[in-house]
Amino acid sequence: MFAMAARRLGYRVHTLAPEHDTPTGQIADVEINANYDDIDAVAAFAQNVDVVTFEFENVPAAAAAAAEAHAIVRPNGRALAVAQHRVREKTFLQEHGLPVAPFVRVASDADLARARDEIRCPAVLKTASFGYDGKGQAAVASAGDLAAAWDALGRREAVLEAFVDLQCEISMIGARTPDGDWSPFGPIENEHVRHILDVSVVPARVDEKTAALAVDVTRRVMEALDYVGLLCVEFFVTRDGALLVNEIAPRPHNSGHLTFDACRTSQFEQQLRAICGLPLGSTEMLQPAAAMANLLGDLWEGGEPRWAAALAYPDVKLHLYGKGSPRAGRKMGHLTALAASASEAKARVLQARAALTG
Ligand code: AMP
Repeated sequence: MFAMAARRLGYRVHTLAPEHDTPTGQIADVEINANYDDIDAVAAFAQNVDVVTFEFENVPAAAAAAAEAHAIVRPNGRALAVAQHRVREKTFLQEHGLPVAPFVRVASDADLARARDEIRCPAVLKTASFGYDGKGQAAVASAGDLAAAWDALGRREAVLEAFVDLQCEISMIGARTPDGDWSPFGPIENEHVRHILDVSVVPARVDEKTAALAVDVTRRVMEALDYVGLLCVEFFVTRDGALLVNEIAPRPHNSGHLTFDACRTSQFEQQLRAICGLPLGSTEMLQPAAAMANLLGDLWEGGEPRWAAALAYPDVKLHLYGKGSPRAGRKMGHLTALAASASEAKARVLQARAALTG
């Protein structure tokens, strides 16, 4: 989707990923197959481009540094390092006075004992790195389960985080230019199923104060990281109305996919504008509300989904990413609906998704 936005503005796109024939590779001018820790390949790649950006945060710091020797890299390596490691991320947020759920780092048996004392269960144990869509996470119902939960995560560095009594989850997507201009999308309301984003809706059903605070926190995160590019901040809204940062993603985010159809400028075009030092575009919505429903590989269980059935809805847009094998839990595409209200948009997009499997 980024490559499509870049192509529309006349840019050439090169992509580097370990896999062959990736969704970006299908659209890019050049697709390089290499691991992210193949420093020579990353350096050679960077020599042939002007600006490097990411759509995946688990790129080693050394790779970002190798690219920086030859091209402009946005966002910077520090932002990547913070976003890809939960301990660094939560510590950074705390140090900047930004609200996070109570947590304790767990890297030894002594830490485990401290975590047991300081964090009241139920809680969630999360590996510090390489966790997404609920991977690398274990629910801890009571203190007695903690040691077994850490064993189950391979005793890797982790954080124990208090379980948050959620009213809802929201996200903000911000773009920031080299001159410090910035522009937000959202808040977007997100519903997860089995820890994977299922449906996103704008406008989020939160009060004005919460929405304004989410915008302010996002701006502060971007300024503190001297961030250039596009970033998502995921939040928990607690049942008693508090706003906590869950995590930050230094890239376009699944909850922002609806901006493709819903806004004058999509998150992908905004990312392009930010990293290329162009003026940011308007994030104004084309209709009052929009909803996005993810299409996971599970939908293929009974055979190819009935695409024509969803396309029969004139106000619904279908996006398929061109991924080869539809595995369970794999994000294969999404549907977007625009409507006069959030509840109407959500109902519409869910109807269209249900129609895919009859
Ligand atoms: P994460 O990978 O940390 O974004 O977690 C994935 C999802 O798990 C979140 O979007 C929440 O739905 C849920 N979750 C994670 N941490 C917590 C928590 N501390 N309290 C309640 N729900 C959580």
